[in-house]
Amino acid sequence: VVTPERLVVRENVTAVQVLAKNGYVGILPGHAPLLAELGTGYLQFESGGRKHFLAVHGGFLEVLQDHVRVLADAAERAEEIDIERAKAAKKRAEEQVFNPSLGVDPAFALYAMERAQARLDAAAQKPGS
Ligand code: ATP
Repeated sequence: VVTPERLVVRENVTAVQVLAKNGYVGILPGHAPLLAELGTGYLQFESGGRKHFLAVHGGFLEVLQDHVRVLADAAERAEEIDIERAKAAKKRAEEQVFNPSLGVDPAFALYAMERAQARLDAAAQKPGS
């Protein structure tokens, strides 16, 4: 998983689940090659028998023979998510969505709300087997 800013995860994995535009996609070894646009949600992967979670915010998914590559607009591992920051971002975005007088493009505010919710969802997942 990479973003324009950094390499977020590079690991040997046995399973991946990620939110594409049309819903969650599950990828196991031997999955057919795939190119898909990503939504804003959480990504789960299994490595060493344990589940790990990330928040992923738009971008592209590429599945090749032995690779799952995610080029994301932004992404954070669950354990690095600042929950208070995400709660504040969600509250701010909600105010902007429901108060057009604040002058923020509702589509922009809605996307900010989705990013914050994806961070809260990913942070709420418990890593484990
Ligand atoms: P905020 O309003 O709190 O900045 P945002 O949704 O506008 O949130 P982005 O523009 O999506 O933030 O991301 C900017 C950078 O900050 C990215 O590197 C992203 O990974 C990081 N980031 C944003 N929110 C959090 C968070 N709650 N915890 C950890 N990293 C975050």
